Amino acid sequence: MKILVSVKRVIDYNVRVRVKPDNNGVETANVKMSMNPFDEIAVEEAVRLKEKGIATEVVVVSIGPDVAQDVLRTALAIGADRAILVTSDEVIQPLAAAKLLKAIVDKEAPQLVITGKQAIDDDCNQTGQMLAGLLGWGQGTFASKLEINEGHALVTREVDGGLMTVKLKLPALVTTDLRLNEPRYATLPNIMKARAKPLVKMTAAELGVDVTPRLKTIKVEEPKKRKGGTKVPSVQVLVDKLRNEAKVI
Ligand code: AMP
Repeated sequence: MKILVSVKRVIDYNVRVRVKPDNNGVETANVKMSMNPFDEIAVEEAVRLKEKGIATEVVVVSIGPDVAQDVLRTALAIGADRAILVTSDEVIQPLAAAKLLKAIVDKEAPQLVITGKQAIDDDCNQTGQMLAGLLGWGQGTFASKLEINEGHALVTREVDGGLMTVKLKLPALVTTDLRLNEPRYATLPNIMKARAKPLVKMTAAELGVDVTPRLKTIKVEEPKKRKGGTKVPSVQVLVDKLRNEAKVI
């Protein structure tokens, strides 16, 4: 079984994101970038399935600028077999990403696609769902457990207040939640080995996909600064403040 995993290059989750002075986006120049954390979980899950002998090949795909090769090399160091980079200097919105990934799925014919539940830069939480829709496949989103047996995927999903288990007929799509696994660190020998693994590049135009943005960002703003807190001497004062100052009770 071949597994396809999408990996997006985003601002590293440890970086304090700064809004650009013209409010049209966030600062990315000279900012540390890395693999979207949910995609790292997706790669780890695919590699574990390969180690268990369930998957035969793990292919990773990223869409972005030429430098996005670095996140693909990280995925290869974790254990993926080969990588595809779809280069684009346009901003790729979820629908365009889903269409490009569909074009790759049509070429590669994997039995399972794993995406992150969301990219931490745009927080859209749309690409996996749109891709499953375009493919006409079943989808198990926000997976915290994944089992594959006899042509099916059993996905435990994290839903409000509990867990839901769905059974999907393969081929299917799964999106990862935080608790699915804890990704391993890529070791130095594996980072070295990853350099020799195949990475092919193609363009959105070669895949025949129109990536023109459908949404326009009107404004990006910093969250409001939080005011300092105060200590209250008693429950009575707290209740009084909640009722008369905050007006929340
Ligand atoms: P989003 O819908 O933007 O929150 O992204 C959800 C998931 O779709 C991500 O975790 C990735 O697995 C995948 N994805 C979105 N954009 C890209 C991209 N440019 N390259 C590769 N994968 C992507």
